Amino acid sequence: MPELPEVETIKRDLAKLLAGKKIFNISTNTPKQIRPSLKTVKKNIIGKKIKGVKRRAKLLLIFLEDNLVLGVHLKMTGQLFFKKNTEPKNKHQRAVITLSEGKELRFNDLRKFGYLQLIKGKKELDSTLEKYGPEPFLDLDFVYFKKLLTSTSRAIKIVLMDQSKISGIGNIYANDALFLARVNPAKPANKITAGKAKKLYNSIHQVLKAGIRFRGASDQSYLDALGQKGSYQDHFLTYKRAGEKCFNCGAKIKRIKLGGRGTFYCPICQK
Ligand SMILES: [Zn+2]
Repeated sequence: MPELPEVETIKRDLAKLLAGKKIFNISTNTPKQIRPSLKTVKKNIIGKKIKGVKRRAKLLLIFLEDNLVLGVHLKMTGQLFFKKNTEPKNKHQRAVITLSEGKELRFNDLRKFGYLQLIKGKKELDSTLEKYGPEPFLDLDFVYFKKLLTSTSRAIKIVLMDQSKISGIGNIYANDALFLARVNPAKPANKITAGKAKKLYNSIHQVLKAGIRFRGASDQSYLDALGQKGSYQDHFLTYKRAGEKCFNCGAKIKRIKLGGRGTFYCPICQK
């Protein structure tokens, strides 16, 4: 699933590409992926200009005139491509927003878990976003983070990935942040010392920054807004490296399941 660095990369590109474009139409072959309905979205967004693009957690927010926002969640396999209307379409294309200047915003989604959602006005926007925890590069401060860890005995990796507690961290960056901080993914959060918590807090920022610098991880379906791969997959620290050597001590990276997700760690460095 695209995480903070992947969605941030798409956001930064789309912010430049979409600004000032006008929406001419929207169509779909999977109406269940358009919320609240294709009819309502159509009625509201046709003729509107795009003012800007933001990101909150793993949700993209396309701001339109008249306090309208089009939220896009890519979920497992969603992609959002900015293309010329003459370019060939992806076989998993689910929706198209036709834009001015012969451009299109195309939503592809192999597994169909993603969605486009119309959000009307500030109140609806606030209520849509209130379920997300603090943002690592905005309001996730260390005092909050330390308190969060001491408040629960859940495995630290599961806490890091809980979107209601912290926004934007998924399986890739949780694994790699825990490796950098030398913390075992299964360790109860409230058993982590203050010193380790500080290290983990810094590691989270370090791996997310690396993810953004490499324009995301394209080990699965993620591609940027122009259909290009990111390269963080060439820099994974532990993620998907089971059986390979730990970059720190040379021991073999182990894979376990935690909360149903593949979890990778060094049994020597991450006791
Ligand atoms: Zn090691």
